[in-house]
Amino acid sequence: MASPALLMRVVAAAYSAAEKAATIVRNVMAAGDLGIVEKTGANDLQTKADRLAQMSICASLARKFPMVTIIGEEEVTADEVTEELIEDGHCEEILKKTCPSQYTGIKEEELVIWVDPLDGTKEYTEGLLDHVTVLIGIAYEGKAIAGVINQPYYNYEAGAGAVLGRTIWGVLGLGAFGFQLREVPGGKHIIITTRSHSSTLVNDCISALNPDSVIRVGGAGNKIIQLIEGKASAYVFASPGCKKWDTCAPEAILHAVGGKITDIHGNSLQYNKEVKHMNSAGVLATLRNYDYYASRIPNTVKQSLVP
Ligand code: AMP
Ligand code: MG
Ligand code: MG
Repeated sequence: MASPALLMRVVAAAYSAAEKAATIVRNVMAAGDLGIVEKTGANDLQTKADRLAQMSICASLARKFPMVTIIGEEEVTADEVTEELIEDGHCEEILKKTCPSQYTGIKEEELVIWVDPLDGTKEYTEGLLDHVTVLIGIAYEGKAIAGVINQPYYNYEAGAGAVLGRTIWGVLGLGAFGFQLREVPGGKHIIITTRSHSSTLVNDCISALNPDSVIRVGGAGNKIIQLIEGKASAYVFASPGCKKWDTCAPEAILHAVGGKITDIHGNSLQYNKEVKHMNSAGVLATLRNYDYYASRIPNTVKQSLVP
């Protein structure tokens, strides 16, 4: 058999890198010294887990794929990386899948990997551990085409002795794996949004959509998981704040199962390496019925958010 396509080897390595990062996230919490640093303010935090997980993911992937562009959320330097942070494994099951034909010719220098080593840091510091994810998104020609989301504390309600964590992954044209795809029952309009980055605009936009209920949780990765598992019908965030590393992996997985994510105007999100990091015009994502929500976003909200 021919050796697996580069894209599949990158996804397989990202899967293992995300698992290693999840172990780091759990270990830092268990050790109890979070080493919290404020970045732009009290609602924009970084912990030792964010730093170590990013060093681990970026150094591990860079070692295997030196020509790939890797952009991580945190400012950490490669010379702090110690050998025990390196993950050299990969997921065999992913290598057994066939790469979609449109991606078999991709070269290393054409890929951009967006890394959020710990999404939902604010919630992590507050002990809302199930909100936390590790996100590794893979982009080609400016588009999110593959992604890995690890939930380090998945299954934590099961109590002591339960195996913690799971990894969801997907590739456009292939599908998404590691979870059970479900739609919200009864066509209910359940909106999921931020819990720690609300604003008048964020709340006005949600009110205008007249939802049956609103779920407020941390993390972009977490919110996309709620969409694909049928817990919420639309992720609505009418605010800047969310960055490319928050949306790249979730977008690839959501799109792989037929969902849609755009900014609040309906523009697709771009992931080429030169792009500005901020998703300035917010986020609108659904698994189904995208047009229902998009058509109800008020013009006043759109006018407040410049792409
Ligand atoms: P949230 O839904 O509040 O958890 O936000 C999703 C992602 O976007 C997280 O990584 C947040 O850190 C980030 N984010 C959203 N709004 C802001 C903001 N105002 N400042 C910094 N980060 C933000
Ligand atoms: Mg994040
Ligand atoms: Mg983060």
